Amino acid sequence: MQHNIIDRRGLLECMSWVGAGLVWTVSGGIPSSRLLGAPRKQSTASDFNFVQISDSHIGFNKPANVDVTATLQAAVDKIDASPLKPEFLIHTGDLTHLAKASEFDTMDGVLQASRAKDVFFVPGEHDVTGDDGKLYRERYAKQAKGGGWYSFDHKGVHFIGLNNVVQLEGLGNLGAEQLAWLAGDVKGLPASTPLVIFAHIPLWSVYPAWGWGTRDGAQALSYVKRFGSVTVLNGHIHQTVQKIEGNVTFHTAMSTAFPQPAPGAAAAPGPMKVPAGELRRVLGITDVTFISGKHTLAVTGEPLGGDPA
Ligand SMILES: [Zn+2]
Ligand SMILES: [Zn+2]
Repeated sequence: MQHNIIDRRGLLECMSWVGAGLVWTVSGGIPSSRLLGAPRKQSTASDFNFVQISDSHIGFNKPANVDVTATLQAAVDKIDASPLKPEFLIHTGDLTHLAKASEFDTMDGVLQASRAKDVFFVPGEHDVTGDDGKLYRERYAKQAKGGGWYSFDHKGVHFIGLNNVVQLEGLGNLGAEQLAWLAGDVKGLPASTPLVIFAHIPLWSVYPAWGWGTRDGAQALSYVKRFGSVTVLNGHIHQTVQKIEGNVTFHTAMSTAFPQPAPGAAAAPGPMKVPAGELRRVLGITDVTFISGKHTLAVTGEPLGGDPA
Protein backbone atom coordinates (compact mmCIF):
# COMPACT_ATOMS: atom_id res chain seq x y z
CA MET A 1 0.00 0.00 0.00
CA GLN A 2 1.13 3.50 -0.68
CA HIS A 3 0.18 6.72 0.97
CA ASN A 4 -0.97 9.92 -0.68
CA ILE A 5 0.18 13.17 0.68
CA ILE A 6 -0.42 16.48 -0.96
CA ASP A 7 1.34 19.47 0.49
CA ARG A 8 0.01 22.96 0.94
CA ARG A 9 1.29 24.13 -2.41
CA GLY A 10 -0.62 21.39 -4.09
CA LEU A 11 2.35 19.30 -5.06
CA LEU A 12 1.64 15.66 -5.27
CA GLU A 13 4.32 14.17 -3.10
CA CYS A 14 3.33 10.60 -3.60
CA MET A 15 0.48 8.58 -4.91
CA SER A 16 -1.94 6.87 -2.65
CA TRP A 17 -4.49 4.46 -3.82
CA VAL A 18 -5.40 2.68 -0.67
CA GLY A 19 -7.89 4.80 0.69
CA ALA A 20 -11.43 4.71 1.04
CA GLY A 21 -12.28 8.26 1.50
CA LEU A 22 -10.31 11.26 0.68
CA VAL A 23 -11.78 14.55 1.74
CA TRP A 24 -11.08 17.27 -0.73
CA THR A 25 -10.82 20.76 0.61
CA VAL A 26 -10.83 23.48 -1.98
CA SER A 27 -9.00 26.56 -0.97
CA GLY A 28 -8.26 29.30 -3.44
CA GLY A 29 -7.64 26.97 -6.29
CA ILE A 30 -5.01 25.14 -4.33
CA PRO A 31 -6.19 21.71 -3.35
CA SER A 32 -5.10 20.17 -0.15
CA SER A 33 -5.94 16.88 1.39
CA ARG A 34 -5.98 15.84 4.97
CA LEU A 35 -7.00 12.86 6.95
CA LEU A 36 -10.57 12.79 7.99
CA GLY A 37 -10.78 13.62 11.64
CA ALA A 38 -7.89 16.07 11.48
CA PRO A 39 -8.73 19.55 12.71
CA ARG A 40 -10.62 21.54 10.20
CA LYS A 41 -12.12 24.97 9.97
CA GLN A 42 -15.71 25.32 8.96
CA SER A 43 -16.78 28.69 10.16
CA THR A 44 -18.50 30.64 7.39
CA ALA A 45 -21.98 30.17 6.11
CA SER A 46 -20.92 29.08 2.68
CA ASP A 47 -18.64 26.27 3.78
CA PHE A 48 -20.10 22.91 3.04
CA ASN A 49 -19.41 19.22 2.63
CA PHE A 50 -20.62 16.66 0.21
CA VAL A 51 -19.79 12.99 -0.25
CA GLN A 52 -18.90 11.08 -3.39
CA ILE A 53 -19.87 7.43 -3.58
CA SER A 54 -19.14 5.25 -6.56
CA ASP A 55 -19.39 1.87 -8.19
CA SER A 56 -22.06 0.25 -6.03
CA HIS A 57 -22.62 -2.48 -8.65
CA ILE A 58 -25.92 -3.56 -7.10
CA GLY A 59 -26.65 -7.04 -8.45
CA PHE A 60 -23.03 -8.21 -8.44
CA ASN A 61 -22.71 -11.39 -6.36
CA LYS A 62 -19.34 -12.97 -7.18
CA PRO A 63 -16.72 -13.99 -4.55
CA ALA A 64 -15.09 -10.54 -4.59
CA ASN A 65 -18.21 -9.40 -2.68
CA VAL A 66 -21.26 -11.60 -2.25
CA ASP A 67 -23.32 -8.82 -0.61
CA VAL A 68 -22.83 -5.48 -2.36
CA THR A 69 -26.09 -4.16 -0.89
CA ALA A 70 -24.69 -4.61 2.61
CA THR A 71 -21.51 -2.69 1.77
CA LEU A 72 -23.50 0.12 0.14
CA GLN A 73 -25.58 0.23 3.31
CA ALA A 74 -22.37 0.38 5.35
CA ALA A 75 -21.25 3.33 3.23
CA VAL A 76 -24.55 5.12 3.84
CA ASP A 77 -24.34 4.37 7.56
CA LYS A 78 -20.87 5.91 7.60
CA ILE A 79 -22.13 9.00 5.78
CA ASP A 80 -25.10 9.36 8.12
CA ALA A 81 -22.84 9.07 11.16
CA SER A 82 -20.37 11.65 9.87
CA PRO A 83 -20.07 14.86 11.89
CA LEU A 84 -19.39 16.60 8.57
CA LYS A 85 -23.12 16.47 7.77
CA PRO A 86 -22.82 16.37 3.98
CA GLU A 87 -25.37 18.51 2.16
CA PHE A 88 -25.75 16.07 -0.71
CA LEU A 89 -24.26 12.99 -2.32
CA ILE A 90 -22.74 12.50 -5.74
CA HIS A 91 -22.80 9.00 -7.20
CA THR A 92 -20.21 8.63 -9.95
CA GLY A 93 -21.72 5.67 -11.72
CA ASP A 94 -21.99 1.90 -11.90
CA LEU A 95 -24.97 2.21 -9.60
CA THR A 96 -25.90 -1.29 -10.71
CA HIS A 97 -24.14 -4.24 -12.28
CA LEU A 98 -26.60 -5.01 -15.08
CA ALA A 99 -28.95 -2.00 -15.22
CA LYS A 100 -31.97 -4.09 -14.15
CA ALA A 101 -35.01 -2.34 -12.68
CA SER A 102 -34.74 -4.47 -9.54
CA GLU A 103 -31.12 -3.41 -9.09
CA PHE A 104 -31.98 0.29 -9.42
CA ASP A 105 -34.84 -0.30 -6.94
CA THR A 106 -32.46 -1.81 -4.39
CA MET A 107 -30.00 1.05 -4.74
CA ASP A 108 -32.78 3.64 -4.44
CA GLY A 109 -34.06 1.95 -1.29
CA VAL A 110 -30.67 2.18 0.40
CA LEU A 111 -29.99 5.77 -0.64
CA GLN A 112 -33.48 7.07 0.11
CA ALA A 113 -33.13 5.92 3.70
CA SER A 114 -30.02 8.06 3.99
CA ARG A 115 -29.95 11.34 5.87
CA ALA A 116 -28.62 13.05 2.76
CA LYS A 117 -31.66 14.25 0.86
CA ASP A 118 -30.20 14.97 -2.57
CA VAL A 119 -28.17 12.63 -4.71
CA PHE A 120 -26.68 13.65 -8.05
CA PHE A 121 -25.88 10.85 -10.46
CA VAL A 122 -23.85 10.22 -13.56
CA PRO A 123 -24.03 6.84 -15.30
CA GLY A 124 -21.40 4.14 -15.40
CA GLU A 125 -21.10 1.77 -18.36
CA HIS A 126 -22.85 -0.90 -16.27
CA ASP A 127 -25.91 1.38 -15.94
CA VAL A 128 -26.43 1.68 -19.68
CA THR A 129 -25.87 -1.93 -20.61
CA GLY A 130 -28.56 -3.75 -22.54
CA ASP A 131 -30.96 -0.86 -23.09
CA ASP A 132 -28.61 1.98 -24.10
CA GLY A 133 -29.33 3.65 -20.80
CA LYS A 134 -33.10 4.06 -21.27
CA LEU A 135 -33.99 2.97 -17.74
CA TYR A 136 -31.15 5.00 -16.26
CA ARG A 137 -32.26 8.16 -18.05
CA GLU A 138 -35.91 7.68 -17.03
CA ARG A 139 -34.92 7.43 -13.39
CA TYR A 140 -31.91 9.67 -12.92
CA ALA A 141 -31.48 12.01 -15.87
CA LYS A 142 -34.93 13.41 -16.61
CA GLN A 143 -33.76 17.01 -16.41
CA ALA A 144 -30.37 16.37 -17.96
CA LYS A 145 -29.33 17.32 -21.46
CA GLY A 146 -28.68 14.95 -24.34
CA GLY A 147 -27.13 11.77 -23.03
CA GLY A 148 -27.41 12.82 -19.40
CA TRP A 149 -25.12 15.75 -18.68
CA TYR A 150 -25.99 18.76 -16.54
CA SER A 151 -24.64 21.41 -14.22
CA PHE A 152 -25.82 23.13 -11.07
CA ASP A 153 -24.54 25.66 -8.56
CA HIS A 154 -24.23 25.23 -4.84
CA LYS A 155 -22.99 27.99 -2.55
CA GLY A 156 -20.77 29.53 -5.18
CA VAL A 157 -19.34 26.25 -6.52
CA HIS A 158 -20.29 25.19 -10.05
CA PHE A 159 -20.88 21.44 -10.42
CA ILE A 160 -20.79 19.68 -13.80
CA GLY A 161 -21.94 16.07 -14.27
CA LEU A 162 -20.72 14.42 -17.47
CA ASN A 163 -21.50 11.15 -19.25
CA ASN A 164 -18.39 9.56 -20.75
CA VAL A 165 -19.49 5.92 -20.74
CA VAL A 166 -20.41 5.56 -24.40
CA GLN A 167 -16.94 4.24 -25.02
CA LEU A 168 -14.88 4.62 -28.15
CA GLU A 169 -11.73 2.64 -28.97
CA GLY A 170 -11.88 1.14 -25.47
CA LEU A 171 -11.74 4.50 -23.72
CA GLY A 172 -14.31 6.81 -22.18
CA ASN A 173 -15.74 9.34 -24.59
CA LEU A 174 -17.73 12.55 -24.27
CA GLY A 175 -18.51 13.29 -27.90
CA ALA A 176 -18.88 16.51 -29.87
CA GLU A 177 -22.37 17.43 -28.62
CA GLN A 178 -21.43 17.17 -24.96
CA LEU A 179 -18.12 19.00 -25.48
CA ALA A 180 -19.95 21.87 -27.19
CA TRP A 181 -22.42 22.02 -24.30
CA LEU A 182 -19.56 22.05 -21.77
CA ALA A 183 -17.76 24.88 -23.55
CA GLY A 184 -20.97 26.93 -23.44
CA ASP A 185 -21.77 25.99 -19.86
CA VAL A 186 -18.56 27.45 -18.45
CA LYS A 187 -18.21 30.32 -20.91
CA GLY A 188 -19.84 33.06 -18.85
CA LEU A 189 -18.38 32.04 -15.50
CA PRO A 190 -15.70 34.14 -13.82
CA ALA A 191 -12.36 32.32 -13.59
CA SER A 192 -12.61 32.57 -9.81
CA THR A 193 -15.61 30.19 -9.73
CA PRO A 194 -14.56 26.87 -8.18
CA LEU A 195 -15.55 23.99 -10.47
CA VAL A 196 -16.29 20.40 -9.55
CA ILE A 197 -16.51 18.10 -12.56
CA PHE A 198 -17.73 14.55 -12.01
CA ALA A 199 -17.94 11.67 -14.46
CA HIS A 200 -17.63 7.89 -14.25
CA ILE A 201 -14.55 7.03 -16.29
CA PRO A 202 -11.43 9.01 -15.37
CA LEU A 203 -11.22 12.16 -17.52
CA TRP A 204 -7.43 11.91 -17.36
CA SER A 205 -5.20 9.08 -18.54
CA VAL A 206 -4.81 6.88 -15.50
CA TYR A 207 -4.00 3.71 -17.45
CA PRO A 208 -5.18 3.75 -21.05
CA ALA A 209 -4.08 0.15 -21.65
CA TRP A 210 -7.00 -0.87 -19.45
CA GLY A 211 -9.33 1.77 -20.84
CA TRP A 212 -8.83 3.94 -17.75
CA GLY A 213 -8.97 7.29 -19.45
CA THR A 214 -11.20 9.41 -21.70
CA ARG A 215 -10.38 9.80 -25.39
CA ASP A 216 -11.50 13.44 -25.58
CA GLY A 217 -10.92 14.24 -21.90
CA ALA A 218 -8.06 16.63 -22.66
CA GLN A 219 -10.34 18.66 -24.89
CA ALA A 220 -12.92 18.92 -22.11
CA LEU A 221 -10.24 20.05 -19.68
CA SER A 222 -8.99 22.68 -22.12
CA TYR A 223 -12.28 24.54 -21.56
CA VAL A 224 -11.63 24.87 -17.83
CA LYS A 225 -7.92 25.69 -17.84
CA ARG A 226 -8.56 29.36 -17.05
CA PHE A 227 -10.32 28.54 -13.77
CA GLY A 228 -8.40 28.86 -10.54
CA SER A 229 -9.86 25.76 -8.89
CA VAL A 230 -11.01 22.66 -10.74
CA THR A 231 -11.70 19.40 -8.94
CA VAL A 232 -12.35 16.32 -11.07
CA LEU A 233 -14.06 13.39 -9.36
CA ASN A 234 -14.22 10.03 -11.14
CA GLY A 235 -15.01 6.38 -10.41
CA HIS A 236 -14.74 3.23 -12.55
CA ILE A 237 -11.33 2.02 -11.41
CA HIS A 238 -12.44 1.14 -7.86
CA GLN A 239 -9.42 2.63 -6.12
CA THR A 240 -8.08 6.02 -5.15
CA VAL A 241 -5.61 7.66 -7.46
CA GLN A 242 -4.86 11.37 -7.39
CA LYS A 243 -3.02 13.78 -9.60
CA ILE A 244 -2.58 17.54 -9.62
CA GLU A 245 -1.92 19.39 -12.82
CA GLY A 246 -1.85 23.18 -12.57
CA ASN A 247 -5.13 24.25 -10.97
CA VAL A 248 -6.79 20.91 -11.67
CA THR A 249 -6.97 18.20 -9.05
CA PHE A 250 -7.96 14.73 -10.18
CA HIS A 251 -9.31 12.09 -7.88
CA THR A 252 -10.74 8.63 -8.43
CA ALA A 253 -12.92 7.05 -5.76
CA MET A 254 -13.05 3.70 -4.06
CA SER A 255 -15.99 1.48 -4.87
CA THR A 256 -18.60 0.46 -2.32
CA ALA A 257 -18.66 -3.01 -3.92
CA PHE A 258 -15.25 -4.50 -4.76
CA PRO A 259 -11.67 -3.39 -5.45
CA GLN A 260 -9.78 -3.74 -8.71
CA PRO A 261 -6.04 -4.31 -9.17
CA ALA A 262 -3.66 -1.36 -9.26
CA PRO A 263 -2.87 -0.24 -12.82
CA GLY A 264 -0.82 -2.93 -14.52
CA ALA A 265 -0.67 -5.12 -11.41
CA ALA A 266 -2.70 -7.93 -13.00
CA ALA A 267 -3.28 -9.34 -16.46
CA ALA A 268 -6.55 -7.43 -16.74
CA PRO A 269 -8.82 -5.17 -14.69
CA GLY A 270 -11.79 -6.71 -12.90
CA PRO A 271 -13.19 -7.61 -9.49
CA MET A 272 -10.37 -8.51 -7.11
CA LYS A 273 -10.94 -10.84 -4.20
CA VAL A 274 -9.08 -9.76 -1.09
CA PRO A 275 -8.36 -11.90 2.00
CA ALA A 276 -11.19 -12.47 4.45
CA GLY A 277 -11.64 -9.52 6.75
CA GLU A 278 -9.95 -7.08 4.38
CA LEU A 279 -12.80 -6.14 2.03
CA ARG A 280 -14.14 -3.12 3.88
CA ARG A 281 -10.66 -1.69 4.19
CA VAL A 282 -10.49 -1.29 0.42
CA LEU A 283 -14.05 -0.04 -0.05
CA GLY A 284 -15.12 3.41 0.93
CA ILE A 285 -16.53 6.85 0.40
CA THR A 286 -15.01 10.22 -0.45
CA ASP A 287 -15.69 13.27 1.69
CA VAL A 288 -15.34 16.62 -0.01
CA THR A 289 -15.15 19.87 1.92
CA PHE A 290 -15.37 23.34 0.48
CA ILE A 291 -14.06 26.13 2.67
CA SER A 292 -14.92 29.56 1.37
CA GLY A 293 -12.09 32.02 1.05
CA LYS A 294 -9.59 29.21 0.90
CA HIS A 295 -10.55 28.19 -2.59
CA THR A 296 -9.39 24.68 -2.00
CA LEU A 297 -11.52 21.60 -1.91
CA ALA A 298 -10.36 19.01 0.57
CA VAL A 299 -11.00 15.54 -0.74
CA THR A 300 -10.60 12.68 1.69
CA GLY A 301 -11.08 9.01 1.01
CA GLU A 302 -12.44 7.07 3.92
CA PRO A 303 -12.47 3.27 4.04
CA LEU A 304 -15.61 1.63 5.34
CA GLY A 305 -13.49 0.03 8.02
CA GLY A 306 -13.06 -3.56 9.14
CA ASP A 307 -15.38 -6.35 8.12
CA PRO A 308 -18.05 -7.26 10.66
CA ALA A 309 -17.12 -10.23 12.82
ZN1 LIG B 1 -17.39 -0.05 -11.54
ZN1 LIG C 1 -17.31 1.39 -14.73
